[in-house]
Parts: sequence; structure tokens; C-alpha cells
Amino acid sequence: MSSLEHTSSYYCPCCKNHIAQFIPLHKNFFEPESFHLENWNPKTEICSMCMAMDRERLYVWFMERETDLFMAPKVVFHIDPEKEKNVKNKLAIHSNLYYVSGDLKPLDPWTKALDVTNLYYEDHSFDVIICSHILENISEDRKAMGELYRVMKVGGWGIMQVPLATNVAMSFEDERVMTADDRARAYGHPNHVRVYAKEDYIKRLESVGFRVELYNIAERYSIKEAHKLGLSKEDNLYIVHKDA
Ligand SMILES: [Zn+2]
Repeated sequence: MSSLEHTSSYYCPCCKNHIAQFIPLHKNFFEPESFHLENWNPKTEICSMCMAMDRERLYVWFMERETDLFMAPKVVFHIDPEKEKNVKNKLAIHSNLYYVSGDLKPLDPWTKALDVTNLYYEDHSFDVIICSHILENISEDRKAMGELYRVMKVGGWGIMQVPLATNVAMSFEDERVMTADDRARAYGHPNHVRVYAKEDYIKRLESVGFRVELYNIAERYSIKEAHKLGLSKEDNLYIVHKDA
């Protein structure tokens, strides 16, 4: 391989740069013992140019390639936008989008203070909902899913992403795991209250009314294309739909 090919072997859909390599995940983050996580790319976590995480790259790729999000007028609801600043920055400035962001404890004046388990929005308010790495922090996750379904317009869609284990049949949550240290050990993060099992997560989303569609970039395009973005065959997006 020539050096020229090497320098352009990776690509970031967020900043549109061809880069030599991605930055690995910080060693403080880890895969909890006994779980095999999906969407887990510790060696290619961060874009060296814009700092976009692997999941942000996948979201932006999906939105631009597979949806009409940037072409038609849409009302977008993004929960805890600080978790995905690169996605937020792209959506918030787009002229055809009415962008609403909300969080339990907002970090900027534009983000609304809200509780996802008890939203104050009317039924059928949003065309698109981005709820990424939120539900694993919420004890009453089914209630939150129900609220997101309620405020989504018929015909709307959303990205509902959580940490998922593919090697367990049941989601793991234990009320005896109380402290931040215990949660970090059990679930891989001090704020998480469970690790979802893949099939169970899909069932929970379906139980509130969503139709769930998995989007896998390696299957849709090729494993080569996935690798170029620092992703793998084990990266799936959980796209929810509210059908008529
Ligand atoms: Zn980038």
C-alpha cells in the first residue's frame, strides 16, 4: 500500500475529511465483564479532525444517505444533545429543520429542561426523534419509550440507540446495584441502570407501538465501507417508526 492510499484509508461523514486513523477510546471506558457489546469500536472511536464518535458518524451517514431529513421541512427532537455535539451542530443550523433539544439538566439556554418519562409536548409533535444513549440511564425506560411514541407524528421515525449485549437473552438490571461504583462495574458506566439484551430491547420498543428496523451499514453497503468509517459488521442502528 502506498503512503498516499494509507493517509486516505478512513473517512468521517461528520466533517467529510479523509483521515489516516481514528483515535482509540479512552481506557477509562470499558466493556463490562461477561457482556459482548454491539456498536463497540474502541480502536476507532473518535475522529481525529472533528472528534465525532463512532455512533455520530453512523447517525450522520444514515441521515444523509438514507433519509430525506435534510431536504424536507421537519420538526426534530434531540434528547441530551451534548452527547452528540456533531449531530446537534449539523441539525441545529439546517434551514429546513425546526430543531428542539431537551435534557433533564440542560447545559445551554437553547436546550429545554424536560423529563423523558413525562414530556409536556402534545401528541404527534415531532417528525424525527434522536434518543441516543438515554434509555439505559432511566429506570422507567418503557414509560420513556411510550412518551417518545406519543409525541412522534404518524409516519415519523427515530434513532433509538442504547448499549446492547448480543450474548445474553435477558436484559441485565439489578436493584441491588445502587452506587456509581457498582453500576460502573456491573453495567460499564456509573450512570447506567441496565445492560440491554438485544432481543429484549427490540421487544420493549415494540411493546409501546414502535416498528423497529435495524440498519447495518456493512450489510447495506460492504464491510469495507463500514471499516472506512471506523465501524464494523456489528454496528446496527435501531430505527423506530410510528406507522399509521
Ligand atoms: Zn470528523
